[in-house]
Amino acid sequence: MGRLRVLEALHHVGQSSRSELTRLTGLSRATVSSIVTDLLSAGLIREGADTADPRTRPTGRPAQSLTLIPSAAFAVAADIGHHHVRVAVCDLHGNPIWDTAVGNDTDRAPSETLDLTADLIHQALREKGIAIADVLGLGVDIAVPVRAADGVLEAHGIMPGWVGLRPGRELEQRTGLTTWIANDADAGALAERLYGAGRGTSDMIYIRLSTGIGAGILSGGRPLTGAGGLAGEFGHILADPRGPICRCGNRGCLETVAGSAAIARLLEHSWGRRVTVPDLLRLIDEGEKGAVRALEDAAERVGFVLANLVTVLNPEFIVVGGDLAAAGPKLFEPMERAIRRYALAPAAEDVTVVPGELGDQAEVRGAAGMVLAHAPRILAGRRVAAERGDDRHDPIGAD
Ligand SMILES: [Zn+2]
Repeated sequence: MGRLRVLEALHHVGQSSRSELTRLTGLSRATVSSIVTDLLSAGLIREGADTADPRTRPTGRPAQSLTLIPSAAFAVAADIGHHHVRVAVCDLHGNPIWDTAVGNDTDRAPSETLDLTADLIHQALREKGIAIADVLGLGVDIAVPVRAADGVLEAHGIMPGWVGLRPGRELEQRTGLTTWIANDADAGALAERLYGAGRGTSDMIYIRLSTGIGAGILSGGRPLTGAGGLAGEFGHILADPRGPICRCGNRGCLETVAGSAAIARLLEHSWGRRVTVPDLLRLIDEGEKGAVRALEDAAERVGFVLANLVTVLNPEFIVVGGDLAAAGPKLFEPMERAIRRYALAPAAEDVTVVPGELGDQAEVRGAAGMVLAHAPRILAGRRVAAERGDDRHDPIGAD
């Protein structure tokens, strides 16, 4: 229990001295001192300033600060999008040490996608020489709503082939790793809060503007999950009652008028040729008149819907991620104008709209962050297991 408290404090504050740990944990100086000695000899924490090689023990005079050794354990993460699978391995500080994305037709091929994800995970651990005993678990994020209680996907209309599947359990069976699963926007929100543009805030809306539109909401320091874990389905807020039928079965959802694929379709319609999302982003960047106009109109719709959220939730930051975020001021200016115009004035004044800092790595790093939240508990338990002599060190994929 004492070890858990010390590990939790270090996980939370990053680095700390013995006396600060005494204060943070409420344990006695003698207890903290003996736990620290124990954790130092177990190779879980280190003393002194950061060095280039995290395994290098500092020499010279003893320093005040204690930190978790980043390479003492790892989190594996998988980001499953409509058109890609991305796998990363992150150290205890949440920094990716292996990160690979491959194109994939996810919507139509569930079991192939799960096989590909497991293969990438095995490849990552093999290439980094990481033993399965040093992996805390697997975090998965996926581009559909996920029920928090059982990890079942709400994939009707969104990814029809995946209806009723529990990808977390499937990947657990394929990899042997304890698995956590969440919606991609919720994972992106967690990453921007932990490592990106939302650091230190307790009231934030993260919106992900891509082919699908989603949001992760942090309110009063807590993620807003809703009864079933489905809160934040921002893309399916009504934007136009007479708009097109959405894949969710409703009509005129924000996604049908402001998703990147919906904007590209407007241009396809008038130009009579195929316009992919990368084409759209290039045309916007080049300042092509029709593409910029379509983006501005979409941005205004997003801002209109966001204005209502700003009035209801009074966030400090709106962090914008997803592929449309790359459009810069052409996206942000009309969006912010609409927020200022339609939100309750003092709430509009409180909010700052910023681009995400983590780009397309946000989701996968958030998925790792879900695992790392359990790191102190797992590491404290692992020490006990090691003392009992039942620690295993069999590298994954070695058989
Ligand atoms: Zn919808």
